[in-house]
Amino acid sequence: MFDAEKYSKRFKEKAYTTQGVYSQPGNLPLIITAPHGGLSKPETIPDRTRDGSLLLADMHTKEIALGIGEFVSDHYRSAPHVISNDISRRKADVNRPLQDGAETDAGERVWREYHQSVQFSVEKVLKSNRSGLLVDIHGHTHFDGAIELGYLLSLEELQSKSVILDQIILEKSSIRQFAKRHGKTTPHKLLYYFGDLIAASSENHIAVSPSSHMPIPLDKNYFVGGFTTQYYHNLWNGLDVIQVEIPRHLRLHEKNRRLVIKVVSLAIINMLDRYYIKHGIARNLFSGQAKLKEGNEMKVEVKATSIGTSGCRVASSTRQHCVGSSRSLKKLLKP
Ligand SMILES: [Zn+2]
Repeated sequence: MFDAEKYSKRFKEKAYTTQGVYSQPGNLPLIITAPHGGLSKPETIPDRTRDGSLLLADMHTKEIALGIGEFVSDHYRSAPHVISNDISRRKADVNRPLQDGAETDAGERVWREYHQSVQFSVEKVLKSNRSGLLVDIHGHTHFDGAIELGYLLSLEELQSKSVILDQIILEKSSIRQFAKRHGKTTPHKLLYYFGDLIAASSENHIAVSPSSHMPIPLDKNYFVGGFTTQYYHNLWNGLDVIQVEIPRHLRLHEKNRRLVIKVVSLAIINMLDRYYIKHGIARNLFSGQAKLKEGNEMKVEVKATSIGTSGCRVASSTRQHCVGSSRSLKKLLKP
């Protein structure tokens, strides 16, 4: 497990770009990927012609991935791994298997560079921690305007009764290892946890599914999780993967992007504090404990034991949570 006490100094390793793939090395047990945000169309890479070659970019998802990376880094003074494909999916789609995503040698070089970076990060994370979280950032244009979280479970599976759903989560979801590691908590509560955190961080202004409030996505084209989710959760026992599909209106306008960066970052920080980080400094500064209450309402009790210059100062609201940010909750949620 990542030991926060070992890292009192800010982690800083330079980001680099090779073959059009941007990589920011990190040291936290967190990997953020953005495979579809690329707009670059070098003439040296021929266009793809097969399946999905005409799909447009997931606009602004690189900015969102980098923004989350920065927010999380500011919080911990340690960095997540961030990898983005800057090349258009017309040239190389890295969220598909190699044979579908790259049709030429030049496209294949991009695909391989991207996945080497992701794989290197995953191996680094699991070498020093037994577990890690990969968050794959995408954008959708579905009518419901909700953030869709992909766990490799279909709409039909998400509609199953709790007992059946729990079994399915343990068998085939992209967080099945997470559910097994935390066997004392009912699997479907763990499935809704990240969605509940995002919704709560936005004062429930942003709909998120699956979550306690919206267990079943409304759009029939709901994205269950693509190649990245399928491939990486399967390779290593400790890696948990969540695909985050952000609706158009939260990506296109800068103010909304800032909000979505903030709420997703807060949810990630809460996840890390609770499940992936051995609490040294972090636990002393912030001991936010998120609990799912009856009636599916999120409550987080905050016991700031040693706040100092940073930490959460809000403990009263029942519909809110705090994950120990360096700024006040009010400021964070209402920029
Ligand atoms: Zn996408």
